[in-house]
Amino acid sequence: MAELLCVVVPVYNEREVLPAFHDRIMAVLESLQISIQLLYVDDGSNDGSSEWLAEKQNEDDCVGVLRLSRNFGKEAAMSAGFDHAEGDAVVVIDADLQDPPELIPTLVEHWRAGYDVVYATRESRDGEQWLKRHSASLFYRVMDRLSDVPIPRDTGDFRLLSRRAVDALAKLREQHRYMKGLYAWIGYPQKAVPYARDARSLGRSKWSYWRLWNHALEGITSFSAAPLKLATWLGMFTSILAFGYGLFFLLRTLFLGNPVPGYPSLIVIMLFLGGVQLVCLGIIGEYLARTYNESKGRQLYFVMDYRPSGDLPRRVSPKKETDDSANSESAVDL
Ligand code: UDP
Ligand code: MG
Repeated sequence: MAELLCVVVPVYNEREVLPAFHDRIMAVLESLQISIQLLYVDDGSNDGSSEWLAEKQNEDDCVGVLRLSRNFGKEAAMSAGFDHAEGDAVVVIDADLQDPPELIPTLVEHWRAGYDVVYATRESRDGEQWLKRHSASLFYRVMDRLSDVPIPRDTGDFRLLSRRAVDALAKLREQHRYMKGLYAWIGYPQKAVPYARDARSLGRSKWSYWRLWNHALEGITSFSAAPLKLATWLGMFTSILAFGYGLFFLLRTLFLGNPVPGYPSLIVIMLFLGGVQLVCLGIIGEYLARTYNESKGRQLYFVMDYRPSGDLPRRVSPKKETDDSANSESAVDL
């Protein structure tokens, strides 16, 4: 049986760049000696991307479109793509042309050489501001120290996964999906391929600094309990300081009498301890909120409709979220 490569593309309001993206990736895929499926995951776009994709799906036999019921975010969109992707290897790539499709043949080569996860590592980040570059590098350094599994630096989602890596990933259904961590967590032989990252060609990045901050928080809390331990250490440290300070006052009062100054130090200590306690509570809160979200056990996404690519013999039955299977089955008949 011929090998099948499935390319998963999460799309959220990318109407401007989609035509260019599609042409460029098709040119690359057609040059590969492998059968292909191009699976667009429409993550609740409302800018005409959905209509464009539907049209392409009619025109082109290798194009499949999975439309989610609303915007669930890139991580959920990718998971939806992985759940529905068939094939012996799955590539995930951004629609904004920041990941060069021309790298895919190299990824495939390494996969054929036996690697399960072949990821593209950025060598340069052209077109990004100084602050974004530096905050990203600081974040990767912190993650390195905190996380139990090594998470490769300067690596986005652009990568190739073998069938067993995709299956492994499909078993991890946590709500807080820090994908870069999950890819590393599943293990299997992994290989880095360096490339130069381009600036976004059209449209704009949906990642504000606020969103990046939350993404960083997600990464740290998903892969490390160190901040919780930090709270304990901070508590111990301030207790020791307070004990020393108390001793100092005791001795001073014993030997020098008590002239009752004390007010400024009292205020400083109260504020300091109050601050430390609030920070620690905040840290606990971050973890508690995540435990709360996980405990609800909600599905990661819902499918509005699924129109698989036309020319594929249905080989592997795609793993779907249990409840949406009825949904997508009826869509297949359309
Ligand atoms: N994306 C998505 N859902 C979202 C946000 C983004 O599917 O809620 C897709 C988007 O269409 C693109 C990819 O994820 O294909 C990367 O998005 P973006 O370029 O905004 O992120 P960045 O490159 O800045 O990390
Ligand atoms: Mg981008």
